[in-house]
Amino acid sequence: MLIRLESVQESPFRWEETVTVDAAEVDLPELNRLGPVSWQGEVSYADPDYFLTARYEYEQMLACGRCLKEVPSRVRGEIQLLLTLEAPNQSGEVALKEEELGCVQVDEEVEINQFLLEQLALNVPMTPRCGDDCQGLCSECGADLNEGPCGCDRTTVDPRWEALAGLKARLSRD
Ligand SMILES: [Zn+2]
Ligand SMILES: [Zn+2]
Repeated sequence: MLIRLESVQESPFRWEETVTVDAAEVDLPELNRLGPVSWQGEVSYADPDYFLTARYEYEQMLACGRCLKEVPSRVRGEIQLLLTLEAPNQSGEVALKEEELGCVQVDEEVEINQFLLEQLALNVPMTPRCGDDCQGLCSECGADLNEGPCGCDRTTVDPRWEALAGLKARLSRD
């Protein structure tokens, strides 16, 4: 949605819509799919800047980092940004303060969906889990261990640990 800031000076621009976002646009491997994203908000004039507030809600399907099972989760959140047409003040402290306040430099015409996309990416956790006790996949045959043992012998020690154990044994003998 493209907004011309000048038109907001007269009266705030409000919207309420449901958008379909392809997970590929967010481009994170942990994100499988996104349900329809409903969001509503307002851009108002706060001389000389503009204030954007919005609320959003949607469902995201994540891939469990251990077993790859799809994990749905409902997300709700808010966006609050100060949009400014002026170049950011790059002198240290002031620039930092602006960043804390969620100040974004924009052009007279602003594509506001970019702010929503940013949020969608931020809401994808680093390592999604289907549950705290997820057993993951068998390292031998790839079976989902949450569905029961697969019969593989996985008692073999990681070769790196084997080497370390050997070293320890040698050291304790001396
Ligand atoms: Zn899992
Ligand atoms: Zn197995």
